[in-house]
Amino acid sequence: MASIGDLRVNGKRLRESLERMARIGATSGGGVHRLALSDEDKEARDLFVKWLKDIGLKVTIDEMGNIFGKRAGRSNDLAPVMSGSHMDSQPQGGRFDGILGVMATLEVLRTLYENNISTERPIVIVNWCNEEGSRFSPAMVGSGVWAGALDRDWVYNRTDIDGKRFEDELIRIGYKGREPCVRHPTYCYYEYHIEQGPILEREKKIIGVPKGIVGIHWYDIYLEGEANQVGPTPMEGRRDALCAAAEMILKVNTLPQRVGGNLVATVGEIQNYPNSRNIIPSKVHFTVDIRSWDDDHAQRAWEMLRQDFEQIALRRGCPMQIEDTWNVSHSPFDKSLVERIFRISTTLGYPSLYMVSGAGHDASYMNQVCPTAMIFVPSVGGRSHVEVEMTKWEDCEAGANVLLHAIIQSANEKDKIGPSIQ
Ligand SMILES: [Zn+2]
Repeated sequence: MASIGDLRVNGKRLRESLERMARIGATSGGGVHRLALSDEDKEARDLFVKWLKDIGLKVTIDEMGNIFGKRAGRSNDLAPVMSGSHMDSQPQGGRFDGILGVMATLEVLRTLYENNISTERPIVIVNWCNEEGSRFSPAMVGSGVWAGALDRDWVYNRTDIDGKRFEDELIRIGYKGREPCVRHPTYCYYEYHIEQGPILEREKKIIGVPKGIVGIHWYDIYLEGEANQVGPTPMEGRRDALCAAAEMILKVNTLPQRVGGNLVATVGEIQNYPNSRNIIPSKVHFTVDIRSWDDDHAQRAWEMLRQDFEQIALRRGCPMQIEDTWNVSHSPFDKSLVERIFRISTTLGYPSLYMVSGAGHDASYMNQVCPTAMIFVPSVGGRSHVEVEMTKWEDCEAGANVLLHAIIQSANEKDKIGPSIQ
């Protein structure tokens, strides 16, 4: 090896690690079913911990079941560089979501280990507990508690569909560790993940460089109608809450087209009362999810939608109530780290693209704690959270090489304050 810049990960070994992990909870359709705190999750964790110890990492497990592996640096009083993701999956999920970021960080550390390369700062690999939130909601609780955004005991008492408590299941699989789950000084955080969308494939790029995570705006709409027998009640004069909702839902669907710019809008949940074929619907509740990188644009779009809703509600004689349920502004990642990812990708010869993440990740919480950036690679057909989820092996390797050099560069920075902290 002529210089550190020539260093590359072992793509074959990365593939073998991913394939080995994909056998744990493998489904007949080629995916994995590895729900948080299940027997499969335990099996994957046991193997992961063994692999960490094989390369001499100091393993700690905290009281939320997050697993950390620390590789010492030359100056161990300096805050470490952290990188990782999650190993749990969606039900009947894919072989790449989450696990790619964990296995690629492991591959980076194996590469440093076998080449005897030391860094100034320590490096920490992390597997965050219950990122998916499909067995125990909400999502991203491991990083959320660690970052101080969620309460540990509240998460402990969350239950799955069978009434099993989070904490009891954590104890059952042997991963309620002794370390307190509190944030440690961290120099920066990288998370490498599949894109889960179609943009990189469409644009024929290999590396996606998210500038941050989109703003997410949630609203709950409540409509009042008038219940009546469907047979004897003539059509004119009806106050049918479901018909009002139907018109509104189509307004949501066409909103992005009407306002232009970068925005998506979705109604994902609806309740109709009394939900009987015999009774004109008297009450409807539905949700609206608007996501955009541009908070002002999202706000303007919502104002327009609200006027549409008001007109429809008035015309159909259905009084409406709107609740502003949740509103998070767009969350830009650390600019210098984002630019670093792009620069490294270019240097390594990978076509790359600045983009935004439309989904939440553990990186969302880490972005509140320390300078954070992500690396995306293409999802074949833009598909994710399904058994056919696929990323080409050479793309997996490409992203791992970008991660390798991003970690090395950050881990060799000596200044204690770190890159700009937002
Ligand atoms: Zn994920």
